[in-house]
Amino acid sequence: MIGAVDIGGTKIAVGMVTESGRLLARTECPTAPERGPSDGLARIAAMLRQTAAQAGQELMGIGIGCTGPVDPQAGTIGNVEFLPGWEGADIAGEVSHVFSIPVALENDADAAALGEAAWGVGRGAHSLVYVTVGTGIGGGLVLGGQLYRGVSGAHPEIGHHVIDPSGPACSCGAHGCWESLASGPAMVRWISDTFPNSASPARGLDAEGIFVAAGRGEPHALAAVAREGFYLGLGLANLITLFTPDVIALGGGVMRSRHLFWDTIQSTIRSACGFVPFEQVRLTPAALEPDTALVGAACAWLHRYRCDTLGLTEPVRTS
Ligand SMILES: [Zn+2]
Repeated sequence: MIGAVDIGGTKIAVGMVTESGRLLARTECPTAPERGPSDGLARIAAMLRQTAAQAGQELMGIGIGCTGPVDPQAGTIGNVEFLPGWEGADIAGEVSHVFSIPVALENDADAAALGEAAWGVGRGAHSLVYVTVGTGIGGGLVLGGQLYRGVSGAHPEIGHHVIDPSGPACSCGAHGCWESLASGPAMVRWISDTFPNSASPARGLDAEGIFVAAGRGEPHALAAVAREGFYLGLGLANLITLFTPDVIALGGGVMRSRHLFWDTIQSTIRSACGFVPFEQVRLTPAALEPDTALVGAACAWLHRYRCDTLGLTEPVRTS
């Protein structure tokens, strides 16, 4: 079995995964980034030991998915907005030293994309784009069976492609990025800004609360959800136009309420994708949710060290 670690801005999940992608044991703790990377590493090691004991099989290796920019070849964490003080931490090297087995580090969305390609909705597909929509929008691309990497191994940030330059300012410095228009917080912000003086029951709610209010037929919440579907559809239409993948796998908290805006997504794609066979692109919920990134981290290890297992071609080998 493979150890899996998913480091996010709010929580760290750890689990044990079989070579066929089955999650055997799982635990998690708050990230508490202010306690620093050494403390985080100690908690990760303890959770790996605990879940390995629960699963009771031999540990071959450990895959780590981490939010934000990472250096997959060096195994170090980059300048991650949600992990202040962790930049440069040699997380893969340290974990490998503790357990004396090889460790692979990937961006969490890249890990999730690999997991869906190998074990989820992308099984047998040539190309897959994974998109997660929650507090942000992220994603990864598996093209021709390979994880796509940019220059110097850079992770492409599909959540920050600009959809409306007159849109809201984004933390990345641009205006009207997909994330600034269609993430959960973007929907909340829109309701507050659009109905500042109203007594809308949807004001003051988080994204999940807005979906619940929309389900009850509350008009302002319904307007927010319609807008959400439109902007999600526009971003997905752009991805379809750019990559025409076999499959787009959709994950993240916002997508759990997709029944409320699925038709809007589809109609937006239909009207925006005039030159590509969009109707052949399979748009589907990710199969490994809610643990796509965790299970994907194990897949990232297999992809790195045992690529023959997945039928994927390995683009980077670090040891
Ligand atoms: Zn942005």
